[in-house]
Amino acid sequence: MAEPPPGSASSIKSRIAALNLEEVHAPAPGSRPTYSYEQAASKKARPPPPPSQRPHAQQRQQSVNNPPIHSNAPTSTRQPSNQPIAAKPEAPKSQPALPPRPPSRTNTQQAPALPPRKTSEQSVRRRDSTESVSTVASGRSTLSANSAKTSVSGTSGGGQLYQVRAPAYDPSKLPPLPPKKAPEEPKQARATLKATKTSPSIVAPRALPPQLPTRPALPARQDPKEQENVQPEKTQVIPPPRRSALSFGLNKSTETPPPVLSTRPGLTPTESAGTPPPIPLASRPNLDAIMASKPKPGALGSCLKCRDFSGPDNHAARYPRQNLPSSDVAWLATQLTSPFPSFTDKARALFTWLHHNVEYDIHSFFGGTISPSTPERTITTGLAVCEGYAGLFTALAVKAGLESVVISGRGKGYGHTPLKPGDPILPFKTDHAWNAVRIDNGEWKLVDCCWGAGNVQGPHTPYEKNFKPYWFTMDNNEFGCSHFPSDNSHFYRTDGRASISWEEYMLDDVGERLTVYGAATPDHGIGARTFLPAMKHIKVNDPQNGPVIRFQFTSVCPHWENERHGKGKPYVMVLHVGGRDGRKTDWLPFQTDGKIWWMDVNRVDLGAPGQKVSVFAVTTISGEDGRGVTVSEYKSKKGRAAMGFGGVAMWELV
Ligand SMILES: [Zn+2]
Repeated sequence: MAEPPPGSASSIKSRIAALNLEEVHAPAPGSRPTYSYEQAASKKARPPPPPSQRPHAQQRQQSVNNPPIHSNAPTSTRQPSNQPIAAKPEAPKSQPALPPRPPSRTNTQQAPALPPRKTSEQSVRRRDSTESVSTVASGRSTLSANSAKTSVSGTSGGGQLYQVRAPAYDPSKLPPLPPKKAPEEPKQARATLKATKTSPSIVAPRALPPQLPTRPALPARQDPKEQENVQPEKTQVIPPPRRSALSFGLNKSTETPPPVLSTRPGLTPTESAGTPPPIPLASRPNLDAIMASKPKPGALGSCLKCRDFSGPDNHAARYPRQNLPSSDVAWLATQLTSPFPSFTDKARALFTWLHHNVEYDIHSFFGGTISPSTPERTITTGLAVCEGYAGLFTALAVKAGLESVVISGRGKGYGHTPLKPGDPILPFKTDHAWNAVRIDNGEWKLVDCCWGAGNVQGPHTPYEKNFKPYWFTMDNNEFGCSHFPSDNSHFYRTDGRASISWEEYMLDDVGERLTVYGAATPDHGIGARTFLPAMKHIKVNDPQNGPVIRFQFTSVCPHWENERHGKGKPYVMVLHVGGRDGRKTDWLPFQTDGKIWWMDVNRVDLGAPGQKVSVFAVTTISGEDGRGVTVSEYKSKKGRAAMGFGGVAMWELV
């Protein structure tokens, strides 16, 4: 992705959007129009069904009363450094002045002349100017019984159109209800909901209207405000790093970058403009029903590694930073997370958004000019070092109603050199920042948005965006092999140990672990910590450990099926060896049951000291994709057909 345009561009854009809004509605800029269904109900009876001869425009007015669910007001609260913004006091609830109503219809059966085509123009303009604003904010109209066909005004959303009121009517004079097809839609939506793990509202937002007649789902509407005010402020404040930039932990550049997600959804405004209908932010389906369909704590389906995150991932891609109306953290948090009832999905949407929209600030990092960041500044510039990523993640998470903390500590990332046997253990020093966030089932999950976003490759090489979701899904114990928190309460281990010692952490990779290339997990679904032998150096002559050595690795989780959860059918995996004394190179296929790959080899056949032994995936055979090829097919073609290989892991012979 190209460098984002300077911040000024987005502010001009947002101002234009604001001007457009002012043309459309009267309320003072910044004032937060308040509205609730309760208020609405007290002012007028529930809208009766439209008479059969009534033009559709009448229905459209029904939906323009949708309340706004967000404010574009600038954030007044600014805090230093990296902290999330504290909860804002609630904006005064001033009901904006209403425009004159159309003449009453009590004296006539005729509908009044339609003012209203105007509304559709308005809505089109809003879409043009602040497309991303309107998308999620809308959809509330799908709650309305009559709005099924008024999606245009619905998508304009923003709630700013409420000044056009439906004319008064007298229910007793209206003809009986025409038959509706609405009742069938909720059933479909239900079925869809139960079939997927993440919120299906992304996939089929229009299929979600919940029980229309009674409008039961309304409480959801208050969420954003409540979340702002009831926020548990558990955020830990860490001082901005002041140390040498070079010691900041970064993802190891030795990892071969895995390919960018092939399914990454469109990022450009044009693409998102043409895509799916707006997310029905407020028209949430019955939460109880959704939660009932979710895996219970500890259930098989609660495994993050094989969970389908396409919903939050696709949604996060719809909010390119350059198109945001402002750097308002609360607004962005609401947009990104509201469609998802699951805390895990909310957190994932934030994690993914950071990948798409924040680049590592290699300039400041290598230039030693890192300055403390604020969440707003990170949103505006799209640049951050680890503490900027972590600070923005927690700021967004807290605004979204999640509990989250920024954790500072020591990472084994860019610049980390494993100890050699006998090396002294240096004292603990902070050089990295990451997060913990409370996901479903009350579980505290460690995540590293910075390492999950891309690769720092060096001072003179451009930053490489590269989505690495395993920094979201990795279990906390494995995470703890590369992240040591400065606060003892931030280990969040799941193996029953409250913490590990600094010595244990540093000694974990003494002598260096084998090299596992970046493609292992995303491309092949193999767990990086499952490889045997675990350490990098293998002795060709090792009388103590016998003449035969076992090579083995395992899928990333017990439920993993690469065809279903990964990128397709598995490749044949082979071990590249040098042969006795390194004189007979060979490619030996692993045995596998689909979950575990294993092979026993005589040490002397591995090669000569100084050579390498590697695991490769056989990616092509005779130019054809190698996915799904069996071991016996591989054997029959070995030596007869050209083959392509992809690196998975590597050891060195000594
Ligand atoms: Zn799993």
